[in-house]
Order: sequence, then structure tokens, then C-alpha cells
Amino acid sequence: MITADQPIYQTRPCAECKTPFDAPGAFVCERFIAWQHFCTTCLPAVRENQERERADLARRQREGKWLEICPAEFVTIDRRLLPDPSLFDRVQAWSYSPRGMVVAGETGMAKTRSCWALLHREFMAGRSVRALNAYDLARWPAMVMSEPARADALLKRIVSADIFYADDPFKSRLSATVEELLFVALDERTSRKLPCFFSFNDSAATILERLSTDRAKAFLRRIRDFADVVKPTPATAK
Ligand SMILES: [Zn+2]
Repeated sequence: MITADQPIYQTRPCAECKTPFDAPGAFVCERFIAWQHFCTTCLPAVRENQERERADLARRQREGKWLEICPAEFVTIDRRLLPDPSLFDRVQAWSYSPRGMVVAGETGMAKTRSCWALLHREFMAGRSVRALNAYDLARWPAMVMSEPARADALLKRIVSADIFYADDPFKSRLSATVEELLFVALDERTSRKLPCFFSFNDSAATILERLSTDRAKAFLRRIRDFADVVKPTPATAK
């Protein structure tokens, strides 16, 4: 029989300090079941501990999810070993806003690594991250043809993620389908006030060469309107 209308108390030893205290509970099948196992002195610290453990578990679970998103080679970063730590610092100085960032410069300056470190920080703060590299883009036209539903779902995630990152998307000449994907992503995201990140090895001139020119100019203009450009410190550039 359960009689839970009125709280019933029974003297029980605290599960932490063993001091007897009046534990609230109820009789279930003639057995007293205590709802509370800690005295009022121990309870705040016990609750705090439980809260910390829950937060730790959530953090570990999120770190696990991060390993599914971030390429293995970019999971760890040692700032001291970077060719231009100031580039890394300037990327990390970004704080979440609709204005994204273009990290441009020659190969070997840890541009991609710096971006992934920032994405990790934002992801751990609870934000969603969607990233594409040149390889993903090269596979895009085939996906649109053979798996349109999957391509649709991916595009939706690209336009709605809290942060979108395109890593060196202009490595090779882009097909019209891939150009279109990048334009739609940039257009849609800027209208939703969601930031885009790019890392480029290209200068503006080579981007113009690799995109169909009318679109390329609009694309560059759009990027300049909605992102700040960060470049390696001249002294460290080789
Ligand atoms: Zn106690």
C-alpha cells in the first residue's frame, strides 16, 4: 500500500556522515522507502558532486562526438610547435557572431589546424558544426545524382549549422554543381545570420580563375561583406 499524501519521516543514518536524521519517505508494501539518504548538512555537497559528475559525463560524451566530426590529424594541437602562433591566436580570438572568418595564406601555416581548434571550442560550448573539405566537395555532384535525399539532408545541415567551415574549397577547379552548393550555403547562411569559416591557400586572383568569373566576383564580395580575413604574420611567412 502506498500512502504518499503526507510525508512520513523515519530516523535513518545519513549515507555520508552516518549521523541519524529524519528521512522523508513512504511505506511501500509495508516497507519504509526513504526519498532522502543524506542529512541536511551533507546534502548540498552531495548534490554539488552529482551535478559535477553529470557535467563531466556530458563533456566526455560531447568529446566523443567531436572525434566523429574532426579529422584525426586535427584533433590535437600544440600552439608552441606552430610556425605562426599569432595566426592561431587571432583565429581563437573570434567570438561567436554572424561575421565569420577567412584564414588565407600559403600552405604549412596551420590554418586548418587553427580553424579546427576554434570549432572544437565552439562545439564544446554546445554549438553545431558542419565542415567540408575539397574531398567532400569533389564527391558532392555524385551524391546529388545518386543519393538526392542524402544530399538534401546534408545541404540542410550545412545551411542551418551554428558554424559552417569550408577547408580549402578551391583546391581544384570546381564543377558548376559544387559552385552552386557553396553559393547557396553562403547566401542562405548570411541571410540567417550564421557565420561561415573558410581557409584558403588561394589568393583572390586564383579563386577568380577557379570559379566561373561572374559568380566568383559575387562570391568574393559576399565573403568580404560577411567575414574578416586573417593572414599569417609576414615575418613568419615563408
Ligand atoms: Zn550527513
